[in-house]
Amino acid sequence: MLIDTHTHLYGEEFDADRDTVVGNIISSGVGHLILPNIDEASLPRMKAMAQTYPGITSMAIGLHPTEVGPDWAAAVDRLMAELSDTHPYVAIGEIGMDLYWDDTHGEEQMHALDRQLGVACSRNLPVIIHCRKALASTLEVLEGHPGVRGVMHSFEGTPADVEAVRKRADMYFGVNGIVTFKKSTVPALLPVIGIDRILLETDSPYLAPVPYRGKRNDSSNLPLIAQSVAATLGLTLAEVEQATTHSARALFNL
Ligand SMILES: [Zn+2]
Repeated sequence: MLIDTHTHLYGEEFDADRDTVVGNIISSGVGHLILPNIDEASLPRMKAMAQTYPGITSMAIGLHPTEVGPDWAAAVDRLMAELSDTHPYVAIGEIGMDLYWDDTHGEEQMHALDRQLGVACSRNLPVIIHCRKALASTLEVLEGHPGVRGVMHSFEGTPADVEAVRKRADMYFGVNGIVTFKKSTVPALLPVIGIDRILLETDSPYLAPVPYRGKRNDSSNLPLIAQSVAATLGLTLAEVEQATTHSARALFNL
């Protein structure tokens, strides 16, 4: 079975047909879904979905960088208060830096990331990092948390960027539908990352792989991403499935 390590299937985009979509996902050979949180507003719907599909879902908790505003500290504290002794979360995420859409709160994003990385380390939980146009500042914050481990979700960049991340933290790299796009730089990164450090993800409803690019994405498209990874690395689909599922289970303690 394949594991989708990053899907927002709890989003309102799926309210009309979530049951059907989950059925398609399971028949496609995807057996587990990691649901990363966005903010306080998304939390109740994420929890509701996890409760409806308990066997096949796991949740992560965190404040997404694009939702970081002047009141980030209180929001982070309220979200982190979800981590009681018997909490159901397998990771802190998604957290990180995003200076692509708006860099007004860059400073606050760094502080919010720092605080959430601290919680991850003290709880011994992995992190799901979203990093867009902000690798330098992300690495600067990571440097303060030497023990941190996790995944750089939807990773794009150069081979040198992969090495720079590796020097700072024990990281996997999330590969999604971007790997199938025509001018994508991701295929060239895969041999540098290596199959043992690749996690498969859809980031649905976004980033549908070819031939569904631009349409609503869901985890039943994960096999297309696995096939693309297999073809790029000269591996069989079974080898990609075995390695990435093993890695996802190891990182998230599934
Ligand atoms: Zn996401």
